[in-house]
Amino acid sequence: MKITSIHLFQHDLPVADGPYVMSSGPVWALDTTLVAIGLENGVVGWGETCPLGPTYAPAHAKGARVALELLAPALIGASVRSPRALQRRMDATLAGHAYAKAALEVGAYDALGQSLGLRVVDLLGGAVCEAVPAYFAISVGAPDDMAREAAERVQEGYQRLQLKVGGRPLEVDIEAAHRVQEAVGPSVRLVLDANRGLTPADAVQLSQALRDGALTLEQPCCTLRELAQARPRLCHPLYMDESAVDLATMVSAAGQGLVDGFGLKLTRMGGLGPMAAARDICRAAGLRHTCDDSWGGDIVAAACVQVAASVAPEQLDGVWIAQPHIEGHYDAENGVRAEEGHIKLPSGPGLGLNIDPEQFGAPVAAYD
Ligand SMILES: [Mg+2]
Repeated sequence: MKITSIHLFQHDLPVADGPYVMSSGPVWALDTTLVAIGLENGVVGWGETCPLGPTYAPAHAKGARVALELLAPALIGASVRSPRALQRRMDATLAGHAYAKAALEVGAYDALGQSLGLRVVDLLGGAVCEAVPAYFAISVGAPDDMAREAAERVQEGYQRLQLKVGGRPLEVDIEAAHRVQEAVGPSVRLVLDANRGLTPADAVQLSQALRDGALTLEQPCCTLRELAQARPRLCHPLYMDESAVDLATMVSAAGQGLVDGFGLKLTRMGGLGPMAAARDICRAAGLRHTCDDSWGGDIVAAACVQVAASVAPEQLDGVWIAQPHIEGHYDAENGVRAEEGHIKLPSGPGLGLNIDPEQFGAPVAAYD
């Protein structure tokens, strides 16, 4: 199961019903990077990393490719039999840059699974379900528009909705939350995600103004210190997303009781192995979490669903994939889709995708 080639591809993912709007502004298209890991046995495993523009996180598409140009040659000749050994090899080559390493790590898991005839979820402990609950993120918009879309998404089958807030007067976000609550009723889980866009004082004001609603606040403020500052005066459960940059931060936050759950991002954490470790930390700490990524096509979506299917249902808060916002699939037949509020676990080995590299054109870099 030795790696004999690694090819890097660049691909543009347009936001089909764009823009996607967060507190930091609109996003119209995403620059994604794909890696194809070829093994001596003829198997090809695929990985992907797709930062959500250059300002969502300390990650950007060109940075991923430059990092991958350093990392890929270091893996030629290594075996995918031990993804952790590959991780150590990458860490010995480049510090940090988990979002780039994740593409190679996911590609290695895909190749390993295909070689063994096992799904990636089986390599992560086994599936507890064959479909996972999806959630939908509603962009910052006029309160009436957000309420209308929320009602439509609930009709489609979503039982958890995330409302993007922040980047505008607090009163408008408060009104939007009220309108959405009226539109969907109490049985739908609502999460207000400010993507770091609020001050601690504004987060507290937002929470206290909505104190009667069964809501969750996700990453209202930018830093750990700001989250800790707001936490004692919040009226709702607090989830950490962008600040959960690694396992050490998660362990510390869980141990201090700083948060009630996590929004976990596959590439930010460094891939499937760290996601499985994060799953187990949350299990031990009694915390719920999502399994998502910042953005990405079928490869990222399949990886998220594979790890999510290994999470106990009472612990899994849902899975977000970019597919509802993207035209087309890398694999027309097995592409990952949210349908009626759920996402089916692909049935094939590895990630469960069959990808034709021709669709991405010539590789931007190739190592053989
Ligand atoms: Mg979030």
